[in-house]
Amino acid sequence: MRPESLFPLFVPVTALPGVGPRLAPLYQRLAGDKVVDLLWHRPSGLVDRRYCPTLAEAIPGRVATLTVRVEAHLPGDGGRRPYKVRVADDTGFAHLVYFHPREGWLRELLPEGAIRVVSGMVEGFYGEITLPHPDHVVPPERRAEVMTVEATYPLTAGLTLRPLTRAIRAALDRAPDLPEWLDPSWRDAQGWPGWREALRRLHAPTGPEELGPDNPARRRLAYDELLSGQLALALVRAHLRRRKGRALAAPSQALRAKVLAALPFSPTGAQIRALAEIDADLARPAPMLRLLQGDVGSGKTLVAFLALLTAIEAGSQGALMAPTEILARQHFASLEPLAATAGIRLGLLTGRDKGKVRAARLADLAEGAIDLLIGTHALFQEDVVFRDLGLAVIDEQHRFGVHQRLDLAAKGHAVDMLVMTATPIPRTLLLSAYGDMDYSRLDEKPPGRTPIDTRVVPLARLDEMVAAVGRALEAGARVYWVCPLVEESEQSDLAAAERRFADLAEVFGARVGLVHGKMRPTARDAVMGRFASGEITLLVATTVIEVGVDVPEATVMVVEHAERFGLAQLHQLRGRVGRGSGRSRCLLLYATPLGEIAKARLEILRASDDGFVIAEEDLRLRGGGEILGTRQSGLPEYRLADLASHGSLLEHARGEAEAVLERDPDLASPRGAALRVLLYLFERDAAIHTLKSG
Ligand code: ADP
Ligand code: MG
Repeated sequence: MRPESLFPLFVPVTALPGVGPRLAPLYQRLAGDKVVDLLWHRPSGLVDRRYCPTLAEAIPGRVATLTVRVEAHLPGDGGRRPYKVRVADDTGFAHLVYFHPREGWLRELLPEGAIRVVSGMVEGFYGEITLPHPDHVVPPERRAEVMTVEATYPLTAGLTLRPLTRAIRAALDRAPDLPEWLDPSWRDAQGWPGWREALRRLHAPTGPEELGPDNPARRRLAYDELLSGQLALALVRAHLRRRKGRALAAPSQALRAKVLAALPFSPTGAQIRALAEIDADLARPAPMLRLLQGDVGSGKTLVAFLALLTAIEAGSQGALMAPTEILARQHFASLEPLAATAGIRLGLLTGRDKGKVRAARLADLAEGAIDLLIGTHALFQEDVVFRDLGLAVIDEQHRFGVHQRLDLAAKGHAVDMLVMTATPIPRTLLLSAYGDMDYSRLDEKPPGRTPIDTRVVPLARLDEMVAAVGRALEAGARVYWVCPLVEESEQSDLAAAERRFADLAEVFGARVGLVHGKMRPTARDAVMGRFASGEITLLVATTVIEVGVDVPEATVMVVEHAERFGLAQLHQLRGRVGRGSGRSRCLLLYATPLGEIAKARLEILRASDDGFVIAEEDLRLRGGGEILGTRQSGLPEYRLADLASHGSLLEHARGEAEAVLERDPDLASPRGAALRVLLYLFERDAAIHTLKSG
């Protein structure tokens, strides 16, 4: 249960004064839908109101705080001529300018003859000083309130600074005093304030340097965030490790020998190395938790299958889980002949299996009539019971969360887990996403792949590209055409893809097909099937084809609005071609104008086909978390930490999380209790449920 002290922060933003149902969606888009989200909304700039010249000295273009006498109201004409208020001091005069004000309100705010402190942007027009819509107008006794440095925040259309600032202030007022979860001596050595004070300072910068990642208040909060993430991961790991493991060994490797003999190729050195690492883990009684990373096309599936054969030969069952229906079916189809060679029984279970078929499949599984079950997250469902699950492989890991990994592990007593990803994850990100999970890497591709010729082309040359695609189709090529990712909604993704499909179908006729995420899975598989068989040769798609689909005959990949994709994602898309022996091409179409960084990013892709180089360069260019370019990536997105600047904090947080759990595995001490609050604060509380006393 969430601690009561946090209740005031975990309520909808509408609980704050001035945030009604009309503005709530804007707050949600900008920061989040809970009060706590506003605490994490960092200032991006400041307005220094401490400049207080006389009117004669006031420099146009600066924000100033002026003390003036109100001389006269000069109402506008309700149209083009604005309402002006003439003010003066001993050195000169100026006009406050208002467009469409309520006159009564203005006369109350600025009574003629009164002294007022006015703060806002000074503008100069042929020697005449004006202040259009000053931000503050107060009587002299309240001067100190105005003469400050004010934080400014990132905004969104429809939400202006004033109400946002007020809401953030109100959120800060609600922030409770929480017990310190940091080690006090480490905190003091860093010169960091307590949590509440850090928040206050984060939102009250006194100079531009305090807006950056090195502000001690920011660093403290970033560390809190990183520590919560590392602690959650460490808890999950400890939970997995606490299960008694068992050794899975197949000394004769008879099944594997049969499969290797039947393969038309031999495994690469990298595959052999990874397999040896996995075998060693399997043979140990402790449960395995290993990540297998390999670029698209590096042959991860084969490694997984050969590892599964070890588990099966050792007498247990295996599971292979894919993120999509298409991919699960593809794994099933491609592994079936190998399974037949080895003499093991495969089963397939997806969300589409219902009723009797499903019941029969589950019965087989429970009896052990299925050795290897392939499927989607349908494998997680409660009624899926194995006779004896020994090894679970999760493909394209980044789509699954930590939680689901736990669910699958719960299905076996001592399940070994291998998670596979094509996403090249630089070390800092790897740490932040997985803690110190064991790690194997396929750094070598199977031989005989031809390099992909990648071009980066402005969308203005679309017609030329369509003509080039036409020539490729005439020459017998099979072509993917991926349509832009639109942030706001899948709906608009779809509209764009449908429009492009219609355009291309007009030019190329019945050879063109369309797949998208909103299609029924059966319909989607049917279209993919027709593309695989060559009935359709130009496939227009949204990013549903991103993951794993294997059509070796495809040799051309066109990506529209490439600038909207993450580099890793583009690299994955590109990996859909260049799988056969044909010479392949990838055309990345971008909209102009393209910023320097965006241009440099696409250039990396043109110059390299090494996923690791691409990921490292992308990290360098863009800094932290965005590297995968997609929200569904499953890698944590930090609100306060910036991995480019706080990488060393991440390392420290990992060490501290491990050390804390070593001393206090159940988080039962007073500090443990404080750390539980931290986990709740950053919504990592799923991990708490792994504790006995959670
Ligand atoms: P990914 O790592 O992207 O999942 P796959 O496992 O789908 O890659 O493998 C891509 C293709 O390479 C498959 O058609 C597979 O049969 C083939 N392959 C795997 N290992 C080798 C190898 N050692 N030599 C040649 N081809 C291989
Ligand atoms: Mg794969």
